[in-house]
Amino acid sequence: MFVRVPLLVQLVFKRRIWRGEDKNTVHLTFDDGPDPDTTPWVLGLLKKENVKATFFCIGKNIEENPLIFKQIIDHGHAIGNHTYNHEKGTESKTADYLKSIQRTDDLHVADLFRPPYGRAKFGQVNRILLLGKQIIMWTWNSQDYKKEIGPDEIVKNANKITGRDILLFHNSAKSNLSMQESLPRVIEIVKQKGLKFSVL
Ligand SMILES: [Zn+2]
Repeated sequence: MFVRVPLLVQLVFKRRIWRGEDKNTVHLTFDDGPDPDTTPWVLGLLKKENVKATFFCIGKNIEENPLIFKQIIDHGHAIGNHTYNHEKGTESKTADYLKSIQRTDDLHVADLFRPPYGRAKFGQVNRILLLGKQIIMWTWNSQDYKKEIGPDEIVKNANKITGRDILLFHNSAKSNLSMQESLPRVIEIVKQKGLKFSVL
């Protein structure tokens, strides 16, 4: 897994969105919430830093944490669909995968979709695009879920961030420590580069 997604990969999967459009702006995204142990902390930090982000939420977690989900929206952040059970598309039947997306849409309709693990079959991508959704990937992966990558390395990698990048973090138990220790410093580095944050 790369910190920066190679251009070749972006070109091969060009029906998916890998970067934003404004060269002075980056897009912070958080996958896998809402989560009671991490999302409120993220919301507090983003409020303090005056940063708006996009949260790709798992339907099951929306159902289990409705108040936290509402807070994300009330704070002015954007919402994306991340399936109901965090299914891996390449290991799911397309009909089941679409049902999982629909079940999540029934809780909150979102025009943005991010496939868990970044994996979806060609036919699934076709159907998702037909639903009118944009498939949002990422350019810069914090890899906050990886045990062998500590916060210092994430911060070091943040020097590679450039305008238009879509930044990937998680709000989940697995990534909590790395995310909490690196995110404030990454936000600082992005601001020092003179880049702005916006939702997708
Ligand atoms: Zn995920």
